[in-house]
Amino acid sequence: MAELQGQEVLAAVGHLAGGPELLELTRSREDAALVGGAPRDLLLGGTPRELDVVVGGDAALFAGDLASRIGGASAAITVHDRFGTAVVEWEGGRIDVAEQRAETYPSPGALPEVRPGTIGEDVQRRDFTVNSIAVILGGPRRGSVQASPEAAADLAAARLRVLHERSFVDDPTRLLRLARYRARLGFAPEAHTALLAAEAVATGALATVSRARLGAELRLTLAEPDPVAALAALDELGVLAALDPQLGFDRDLATRALAMLPEDGRPAVLLLAVVLLALSMDGGRDAPTDIARLLDGFEFTATEREAVLKTAVLAPALVDQLREADRPSRLRDVAASSPLEGVALAGALASGRPPYGAAEAAHEWLRRWRHVRLAITGDDLLAAGIPPGPEIGRRLASVLARRLDGELSDGRDAELQAALEASV
Ligand code: ATP
Repeated sequence: MAELQGQEVLAAVGHLAGGPELLELTRSREDAALVGGAPRDLLLGGTPRELDVVVGGDAALFAGDLASRIGGASAAITVHDRFGTAVVEWEGGRIDVAEQRAETYPSPGALPEVRPGTIGEDVQRRDFTVNSIAVILGGPRRGSVQASPEAAADLAAARLRVLHERSFVDDPTRLLRLARYRARLGFAPEAHTALLAAEAVATGALATVSRARLGAELRLTLAEPDPVAALAALDELGVLAALDPQLGFDRDLATRALAMLPEDGRPAVLLLAVVLLALSMDGGRDAPTDIARLLDGFEFTATEREAVLKTAVLAPALVDQLREADRPSRLRDVAASSPLEGVALAGALASGRPPYGAAEAAHEWLRRWRHVRLAITGDDLLAAGIPPGPEIGRRLASVLARRLDGELSDGRDAELQAALEASV
């Protein structure tokens, strides 16, 4: 790919959701360009996740015109005046619009100062050369390309290269972006970029960024199509250890645990727990408090924090308990109050090494036993004359245990009889 084929990019845009309307609107606008991931993905023969457009004028005005062409009332516009950006979203897709800008970093790790700029300057503010490609959408130069000089060669060679020496120092969130692109595109950092990344990590660049921004990047990492590869790349870069020396990522463990997690489990909770596992097992620290503090700093919600915490802390202890659960009712005692992610992680921790049987028990619980329900309810026991109160729950639990262990024949009658006979 010696040259970047802008005309081909525009032809492909015409087949994307919102593409024809965008091309129509920008037909005579030489100040409008397609930028970022879309030209990159289209030149690679793929389909972009969204379209990013920069314009010379008012982004909100442009977004309004675009929205009315695309979907009228059904297209929603969100405007961020402070950043000069707007998003058009409708059922079939999304287009991000930004005013062309130039950026300077007042101090390392701070948010950039932004001023209106040219397309050339907009290309220069980007993270990696393969993302610094702009295809002019309209006017006499329609289809021409403005890109970083190395963009074409790097795209062809599947390389991630920063645009200048201070890139990671100016904005260390680019270290996390590097890992994400590495996983998503399968591109490798070019040697000097790898060196700059390692230097930035080693000299504490990540400490200059707010934890809230790092948390947002972590959530994007977890939302990648292949989050295991993205976290492995983060770990390899030393980013996890820079956030806390005990953070890490065991890729094989994560893969085994995800394979064990049922459809209704939360992969992101499980993967974060894998990242926190060593910390959760560090006897020298108050692990639950430290984990909670870390997750709060990254601005995970309280629900996410509790689920991750429980998973990371419970899983190691569950391994022995699962092995000792010699029948389904015992398995229920051990596993029912744990999140699915905790059981899956315990199963993955146990698989292939002693204590044998724990992995199988986790698997059986997740696939089979947790779905077993009684045909009778508390109302049936009340109707049969059992007084309201905790005794109802105890009788139902006793029947469920016998049902799980195969001691009852099928049907309501057998369950009701067992409930009434139970000695509780
Ligand atoms: P894609 O590159 O496929 O759009 P994405 O959706 O993860 O991936 P966005 O966060 O939407 O990326 O960013 C869109 C574009 O904006 C990127 O391709 C890149 O050119 C630029 N960009 C985003 N964040 C940064 C940053 N921190 N520094 C420099 N450029 C950035």
